[in-house]
Amino acid sequence: MEVIATVSVGYDNIPVDELTKRGIMLCNTPDVLTETTADTGFALIMTAARRVVELAEWVKAGHWQASLGPALFGSDVHGKTLGMVGFGRIGQAVARRGALGFGMQVLYSNASPKPDLESELGAQRRELNELLAEADFVCVTVPLTAETEHLIGAQQFALMKPSGIFINIARGKVVDESALIQALENGVIQAAGLDVFAQEPLAASSPLPKMSNVVALPHIGSATHETRDAMAQRAVDNIRLALQGERPISLVNEETYR
Ligand code: NAP
Repeated sequence: MEVIATVSVGYDNIPVDELTKRGIMLCNTPDVLTETTADTGFALIMTAARRVVELAEWVKAGHWQASLGPALFGSDVHGKTLGMVGFGRIGQAVARRGALGFGMQVLYSNASPKPDLESELGAQRRELNELLAEADFVCVTVPLTAETEHLIGAQQFALMKPSGIFINIARGKVVDESALIQALENGVIQAAGLDVFAQEPLAASSPLPKMSNVVALPHIGSATHETRDAMAQRAVDNIRLALQGERPISLVNEETYR
């Protein structure tokens, strides 16, 4: 029996088909990181909308000499429209925060419909292009696959409102990063909150962390003590069960357990 346990929910960096062909189990750590990653997503929504990092830096630099004028005002979050691209565990958890905590209207585009969440949160399913045009905040939570690579590019940013705020807590390559940089530089969209990038760690030459309308985080979606401990424990439990001949709690390639 051979088993690989990744301490993450995403496994886009692992050749699953090859492992399956060789009869090697692949386990991941869904669920235990859902709420923490959603917290990170909401932190980015709030931070980008209210310009928290930019204005904190501004205070640190000693620029606060008088009350602020409209040039430094942010945008409301409460009552706005939140568009979730991907509506699985993490997408739904972000949407709950928006709908229940901030009175946001939730739109989602997803492979399958989620009628339970439509009842619970009043969420409405949209085609991606419609969602991009209607949402004030677009938050990406789809996994990186051959289908979702560069799902959001120049055409998609052009559909967003000029006041739109783009959040990515999924994987960097779901977005065409050059198109994102251009959209931010040219005022096609207002701001972005990013936890993930096409290349990680970010290259020193990337303009993204230097842009005043970007909040760039070092892939900290699940990075709290409690959640990383729970993820490590899940990985250990997965391996232990696999080696005992039992089904691991979170098995990616089901075919290997027969
Ligand atoms: P999940 O529960 O599997 O949710 C993914 C959702 O995306 C599902 O609802 C799925 O639809 C939908 N989807 C998949 N392919 C699609 C496509 N081509 N078009 C439209 N919708 C599509 O996964 P999760 O636990 O929420 O995690 C999502 C991703 O977040 C992970 O894969 C990982 O890359 C990323 N992540 C990042 C961090 C971080 O540190 N920033 C932390 C954790 C996870 P169905 O419901 O129809 O299957």
